[in-house]
Amino acid sequence: MSALITADREQAVIAAAPTRLYIDGEWRDAREGRTLDVVDPSTGQVLTKVADASPEDGWDALKAAEAAQKGFATMPPRQRADILMNAFRLMHERKDDLALLMTLEMGKPLAEAYGEVNYAAEFFRHFAEEATRISGGYQTAPTGSARFLIHRQPVGPSILITPWNFPLAMGTRKIGPALAAGCTSVLKPAELTPLSMLALADILHEAGVPAGVVNIVVTSTAGEVTEPLIRSGIARKLSFTGSTPVGRKLLEQCAEKVLRTSMELGGNAALVVFEDADLDRAVEGAMLAKMRNSGEACTAANRIFVHSSVIEEFSQKLAEKMGAMKVGRGVDDDVKVGPMVDSRQRDKVAELVDDAVRSGAEVILGGEPAAGEGYFYPPTVLSGVPRRARMWSEEIFGPVAPLTPFDEEDQVIDWVNDTEYGLVNYVFTNDLTRAVRVAEQVESGMVGLNQGAVSNPAAPFGGIKESGLGREGGDVGIDEFLETKYIGIAM
Ligand code: NAD
Repeated sequence: MSALITADREQAVIAAAPTRLYIDGEWRDAREGRTLDVVDPSTGQVLTKVADASPEDGWDALKAAEAAQKGFATMPPRQRADILMNAFRLMHERKDDLALLMTLEMGKPLAEAYGEVNYAAEFFRHFAEEATRISGGYQTAPTGSARFLIHRQPVGPSILITPWNFPLAMGTRKIGPALAAGCTSVLKPAELTPLSMLALADILHEAGVPAGVVNIVVTSTAGEVTEPLIRSGIARKLSFTGSTPVGRKLLEQCAEKVLRTSMELGGNAALVVFEDADLDRAVEGAMLAKMRNSGEACTAANRIFVHSSVIEEFSQKLAEKMGAMKVGRGVDDDVKVGPMVDSRQRDKVAELVDDAVRSGAEVILGGEPAAGEGYFYPPTVLSGVPRRARMWSEEIFGPVAPLTPFDEEDQVIDWVNDTEYGLVNYVFTNDLTRAVRVAEQVESGMVGLNQGAVSNPAAPFGGIKESGLGREGGDVGIDEFLETKYIGIAM
């Protein structure tokens, strides 16, 4: 038990957590009275029950968002910015409860949960600043016979769907720009981790978000609830973060009424260490790119390619650092690796490791799921992972570092690009020309140069290929929730 987090404190934060649906500015039970269990993945025990929405509840939420859209679109940008700043401050005031709630429902170490609360809140501050900078244009037609006014307007009611791995930040990354642009929304968080987003609803309410402008609908039957809403055409936008197969299905549904879409999907990042890299820096970068969120991140280094002249030293250093990480409940002191989010995820990691070993990889560290309660998988380092191993092309989503040696720059660029994904890649080299050359050739929306993390609210986050469409954050993040209208004026 942590010196700070007692069992009483855990129970108190769970007892105080909102567990009902947030629709039209009110807390409601699900219409059919259904509930779903929220489980602590470090123990397998039920933490609490949360209202489990039916399609009718989903409709109520979308109708509330539709009704609120017209009024909200005319709220002065400064007022929208003030609401976002209120929410930013409230998140900081309540960071102890938010972080603990997140650790309990998702498993990540408490220090990382604090990091996520900060990161999540930053989206509100960033988009508060953007809300008052929505610009347009004025132009003379080439013939001189007309003038063009370029005006930006909110897209309209938006459906936002988020995953479990960053339960708070994936929500604020969508709600922030939606509010800044003047869009109302219905957000459906992952059913494994609904408590963080419901706690955020409480904050948004207190921050002054008008009734109906943000609605939070938790459900164990995601498809049944969201598909009719998407197909209705009432919502004009879908912003989704999650797996590529689900994203593909949702894109098909959006096609019917031609919804605007933002898709933040899966990744298969490579991390490349050239022979001229600062090796200690590369090891630090690999630790961050691999072990952040215990590997349960779309940006996680899924394949680590190291020049054959330095791979032995690199793998020893990496295994030493990963082996020193304490595994346990995220609330306990000094824990650096929490449980996988559920047994399915833990079993998938185990399956991919077994497959890599059968394909010829050697286990340097870990390699077996932990026995006992909770869904733990230990930090694992594999060397000599060949192309035929499934983890070369499938997301591991766990604390497993697969190393493969390479000799030539061209060869490793081909390997990096040998995937349908294109979210992020990491490159470690001290040769500036090579850094630029490789960064330009790798197929991804983002590149970490001599750094193992790229997530920043002020930068345009997103992928290419089957990793997605659109960008979240940066100065383009708000564009995803704005339409451009051109008004032609005869002269
Ligand atoms: P998932 O696709 O299973 O679920 C994501 C969300 O979609 C959840 O809320 C889920 O309930 C919902 N969902 C599932 N099926 C649905 C359906 N038929 N209709 C509507 N909604 C549905 O993904 P996950 O397991 O929660 O998250 C892990 C995935 O998310 C990984 O692939 C990871 O790479 C990706 N991810 C991407 C980013 C990014 O920014 N690119 C960030 C975080 C996670």
